[in-house]
Amino acid sequence: MTKNFKLVTFLGIRPDIIRMHKLLAMLENGQMKHGYRHTYVHSGQHFDFQLDGVFHRQLKVDPPKLNLRVGKVLKRRGKTGHVQQSALLFQKTAEMIERLRPDAVLYLGDTNTVLSAIIVAKYNIPVIHIEGGGRSFDWRMPEEKNRIVIDHLSDLIYCYLDRYKQLLVSEGIPEFRIATVGNIIVDALSSFLPAAGKSPILDRLKLRRGEYVLCTLHREENIDDRDVLAAKLKDLQQLSQMLPVVLPMMPRLKARIRREGLGGILLRSKIITTEPLGFIEFLKLEKEARLIVTDSGTVQEEALILGVPCIVTRRSTERPETMAAGATILDEKDLCGNAEEALKMPTDWDRNILNPMGGSPSERIFQDILSRIRTGFFANSRSFEELQQNLFVRQAYGLEHCELRTMAAS
Ligand code: UDP
Repeated sequence: MTKNFKLVTFLGIRPDIIRMHKLLAMLENGQMKHGYRHTYVHSGQHFDFQLDGVFHRQLKVDPPKLNLRVGKVLKRRGKTGHVQQSALLFQKTAEMIERLRPDAVLYLGDTNTVLSAIIVAKYNIPVIHIEGGGRSFDWRMPEEKNRIVIDHLSDLIYCYLDRYKQLLVSEGIPEFRIATVGNIIVDALSSFLPAAGKSPILDRLKLRRGEYVLCTLHREENIDDRDVLAAKLKDLQQLSQMLPVVLPMMPRLKARIRREGLGGILLRSKIITTEPLGFIEFLKLEKEARLIVTDSGTVQEEALILGVPCIVTRRSTERPETMAAGATILDEKDLCGNAEEALKMPTDWDRNILNPMGGSPSERIFQDILSRIRTGFFANSRSFEELQQNLFVRQAYGLEHCELRTMAAS
């Protein structure tokens, strides 16, 4: 059954490569043994070497067989908005499907790249989604819409935690489509912490272990509006009077600061700005930081696993379990006040809450996909017979009193 099954993994941004490094290697290496075919495709949403190439190289992930180069094309056209991005992505996704004819497409996360699942689904090709059921319950977040869209288009959903699974069931997604596997970020940390330990980045930046704050800032809610961005930078300027702040800057943040003429705030502070860093260097900085201030979902998880207090500088988070664990403070308006609180926080929280089952989530996903290919899950996952297990479908057809097994015939 696995023979000739064609699986495409379709990724788009920096953390996708970090989270998927192990699963990608397993999917690539398992082809001969298990008889399926795997193709790694990249949308090109992130395309700068520092946000893409460096991760393939450092994490030893083979480059994608096909890159749709969406980001580069849009940059050349000078039109990089959500609408233009989705339009081009949809068109390129259709071309990719025509070319590769996959039997299933595997996605991760909540980026704009996952919106292309609508095209995949329209071709009646099964969609698989890792990181299903993440919700911030904050409709203003662009990613919240992406999460909801992909989950409801998916034939198979891997959730990090059981809580996410329950949430999807409450949204009406049938349970047989959902599996809880743990958070695959733990695999990235297990793989690369030893290498990070040897990184000379602290010396390079003249920092001392436990005596600095590491910060990342890139979400639309923090950088798109001039006043909000200025306030965030001023907060960091003030925080840097307490402890030096290291700020690796995404190209978009750098461009926003330049365009809005806010560079002076950085100059009048103890903020050390850098280019975006490789994962090994960044992981070392995270591990040795006294405090992390971030608007990144992934950095928030990494801080919890590493035992470093974290302030999430956002209105809401799709990872509320880090707050419930006592590892994260959500901050919208009082960074320095919250930093003082965070510095007093006990750091003995349970570091395993993101992967309560232990073991490797990537391995669990790999084995599960293999067994579903073998048993023909993807061939039947949208069949009418399967859907008839759903009470709403049974009621709609007036079949709620029929025996489940005889429904197709009736
Ligand atoms: N990261 C990195 N270099 C940096 C900043 C972040 O390698 O300069 C890593 C970080 O360890 C985490 C991921 O990139 O694994 C987070 O990416 P990002 O904040 O872009 O994504 P989000 O989690 O917000 O989707």
